[in-house]
Amino acid sequence: KSESTLSIVVVGASGDLAKKKIFPALFALYYKGYFPETFTIYGFARTSMDDEEFRDLISMTLLCRIDEAENCGPKMDTFLDRCHYFSGQYDSVQSFTQLGAELDAQEAMLSSTANRIFYLSVPPNIFTNCAQGVSNGASSKTGWSRVIVEKPFGRDTESSRKLSNELMECLTEDQIYRIDHYLAKELVDNLTVLRFSNLIFEPLWNRNHIRNVQIIFSEDFGTEGRGGYFDNYGIIRDIMQNHLLQVLAILCMEPPVSLDAEHIRDEKVKVLQSMKPITMDDTVIGQYKKDRTGKLPSYLDDDTVPKGSLCPTFAAVALHIKNARWDGVPFLMKAGKALEKREAQIRVQFRHVPGNLYQSKLGTDLEGVTNELVIRIQPDEAMYLRLNNKVPGLGMRIDRTKLDLSYHQEYGEESMSAGAYERLILDVMQGDKRMFIRSDELDAAWELFTPLLHHLDEAKAQPELYPYGSRGPIGAHYLASKYGVRWGDAQE
Ligand code: NAP
Repeated sequence: KSESTLSIVVVGASGDLAKKKIFPALFALYYKGYFPETFTIYGFARTSMDDEEFRDLISMTLLCRIDEAENCGPKMDTFLDRCHYFSGQYDSVQSFTQLGAELDAQEAMLSSTANRIFYLSVPPNIFTNCAQGVSNGASSKTGWSRVIVEKPFGRDTESSRKLSNELMECLTEDQIYRIDHYLAKELVDNLTVLRFSNLIFEPLWNRNHIRNVQIIFSEDFGTEGRGGYFDNYGIIRDIMQNHLLQVLAILCMEPPVSLDAEHIRDEKVKVLQSMKPITMDDTVIGQYKKDRTGKLPSYLDDDTVPKGSLCPTFAAVALHIKNARWDGVPFLMKAGKALEKREAQIRVQFRHVPGNLYQSKLGTDLEGVTNELVIRIQPDEAMYLRLNNKVPGLGMRIDRTKLDLSYHQEYGEESMSAGAYERLILDVMQGDKRMFIRSDELDAAWELFTPLLHHLDEAKAQPELYPYGSRGPIGAHYLASKYGVRWGDAQE
């Protein structure tokens, strides 16, 4: 028998996320040798299926990547052999107890110590039932049990606290892994390396040298039939309050005492607590309409969207961190669907060089010639520093050029193949909570956005319409210019 065995239960195994992300990630981890010698995977959902039907279902989602082609077929068969299915009810402790008994029997043949991961890939209204089921019926009696929870973690401060309290009644904070898959994106994971292991950035990383920071997320498609879920939340809850705010917290936190998850999360909370709740004056919301040709649909054309919905599909906000490092630096964030391009990036714009000797060559547009560090999170991951450079040749002509690190060129396509879900599930296996959200962080994040979200709902705020495939509402440009800033992505 091996030292310990691992069981992974995907609750909601018949769903979209399980098929799209979770099972492919589990297979990739197995393929790369990250699973212990003995492991068992269980799918749990209400849909009735036997093991064979379940294996057929997930086998369609598993991929052999180019770098994994060798032996992939046999490995896939072995992986599928370890997959089982259990049909049960989410609100029935009895279902979880039966599942627990099946797991006990499987695991007992493999090891005397069994660790379990429960991935709750179900709609948020049944998180609590599932957590109770796990805790009362299916936790391991011989090893640890960890529970992964997917967003959304509530709709505002109050509902998020309620959910946290309910989860904490049956699980300890230590057992809960709140996923924000943005933290596992390669360039987000790299932010701490960039800041804390390169001398050239950290001394400049403050209000004395940085003029503004922009965090930009855009998708080039709309809801396309998935408006039901989205309309309940809107772009602020779906993207800003979690993914973009997490990026901002890591970008702006003080150096943590160590790389220990608690030390990092301690610093992230402090940044969030140093910020003032966002006001309407610092917010622009938008919703996409048909494009100029009338061929691409408006948000309201989506049949899954309620008629007359005011749900924002675009938002831009300005945030302010009131601490010694960042006081006075505007942090501009924007996120939107159905825009011109698909992109996520961080832009750190530095101040101008005082008394620049080359000013006459650079022109009067100070903003156009300041240094800028751009971190492109996706697609085509890259990092580049915009700087002024002499154009080679006679005379003195100065050009704004790039010191460029393209990940694909530098590290190759294959190095970028590990997906965020793979990384996160591996972290749960290893008990590393660096990339998961602690309850006080979550609370601080909601505190920032809740007054704004309530105000938008109560005032029935009208979003500014923008054409599908455009750069978004004009209002976002006015918001930036209020702080003397131009959105960097619009200039490229
Ligand atoms: P889903 O497909 O709607 O639901 C997952 C499974 O839950 C379904 O197969 C269904 O299984 C069960 N279910 C659905 N509605 C239910 C209801 N009203 N009551 C009880 N059971 C219900 O959800 P998903 O897209 O996979 O997402 C799972 C979780 O991940 C959600 O919290 C979602 O917000 C989050 N998430 C999803 C994505 C994504 O890309 N899909 C991205 C980020 C986060 P049975 O009927 O077989 O029980």
